[in-house]
Amino acid sequence: MPSEANGPDAGAGALLKILRDGQARTRAELVQLTGLARSTLGQRLDALVSQRWVVPAEEAISSGGRPAVAFTFNRSARVVLAADLGATHARVAVTDLGTEVLAERAAEVPIDRGPEETLHWLQRTFEEMLAESGHTTGEVCGIGVGLPGPVEHSSGRPVNPPIMPGWDGFPVPEWLGERLGAPVLVDNDVNIMALGEHWAARPEADHLIFVKVGTGIGCGIISDRRLHRGAQGAAGDIGHIQVSPTLDVVCRCGNCGCLEAVASGAAVAARLREAGVEATGGRDIVRLVRSGNTQAVQLIRQAGREIGEVLASIVNFFNPSVIVVGGDVAEAGEQILAGLREVIYSRSLPLATQHLTITASDLGDRAGVIGAAVMVIEHVLAPGAADHVPGRP
Ligand SMILES: [Zn+2]
Repeated sequence: MPSEANGPDAGAGALLKILRDGQARTRAELVQLTGLARSTLGQRLDALVSQRWVVPAEEAISSGGRPAVAFTFNRSARVVLAADLGATHARVAVTDLGTEVLAERAAEVPIDRGPEETLHWLQRTFEEMLAESGHTTGEVCGIGVGLPGPVEHSSGRPVNPPIMPGWDGFPVPEWLGERLGAPVLVDNDVNIMALGEHWAARPEADHLIFVKVGTGIGCGIISDRRLHRGAQGAAGDIGHIQVSPTLDVVCRCGNCGCLEAVASGAAVAARLREAGVEATGGRDIVRLVRSGNTQAVQLIRQAGREIGEVLASIVNFFNPSVIVVGGDVAEAGEQILAGLREVIYSRSLPLATQHLTITASDLGDRAGVIGAAVMVIEHVLAPGAADHVPGRP
């Protein structure tokens, strides 16, 4: 089965790619899978074993009847630091190389305090959590950070983030990397949520859309099993697609009738307040919906329809197999999904919806932090990269 991981040029990282599925394999099996000469394979394996990326598994019986040593990926070879920083709330974790959470914390951290104060807090929290889980910064192979705004992925710098004063162009990777001694990857929160959900809950989906409905609205796109960021990292910004022809709904972007201005948590909360119901954000809306408040139920269902209008076009254009809905407003569950399904199934083409699944996020408020870890793991274990990964075993 030829792939980029195979062939005589396969390096140690390519070998690792094969072993990452957790299955133990003997030398003979690895020779067959890679096409490498037995001596070359031996060298590559030795390199991986000395770095503890790979460890000998239980002995397997070879066809000759003699015991043959099998090798397996060592998920504990390094640790990953992951953070999902939201507008007001942060979730931080230490994970192994299989995204198993070794330590986790959630805290109220307003992002509008600016980068220095927020990142100082993050650095301290990472250091405390490493100590708690019995690890050191020397074992960290990478740090993944999600931010609630547009990020230029190649540089890891926020680009004109609307709700993050002081963060525009701030060198997040350099700032954290210098202090914690590991490479830092940064992306916007919706992209990492899509990565986390795809990896942990829907690995079989080739084409997936993750829609976050929170204070704002955005989506992360998994195309051919890879995150699609677009030319400037702005792909998936569906919150500013016009859905309402009325010009009286002005969006924070300055345009009128944007999806976000009519269907986000902030917009629904504002409509509830106009109706005399006290609500400031997503959590209040979810509480009201769960307690059966009819105005909240009607408004959230209508928000689902409005989001469905945009997604119906996206389904025709992109033909995903799964749409996952997450974010704090999505905790309102079936009410928002019902509105969304109603419009998508009636407006999209039958061929595109025939096998389409529309579902709530399995990971919930953990999608972002798991995705931040996935972003790092995919980066450091990529063929060619794993030979030079920092962090001591
Ligand atoms: Zn807008």
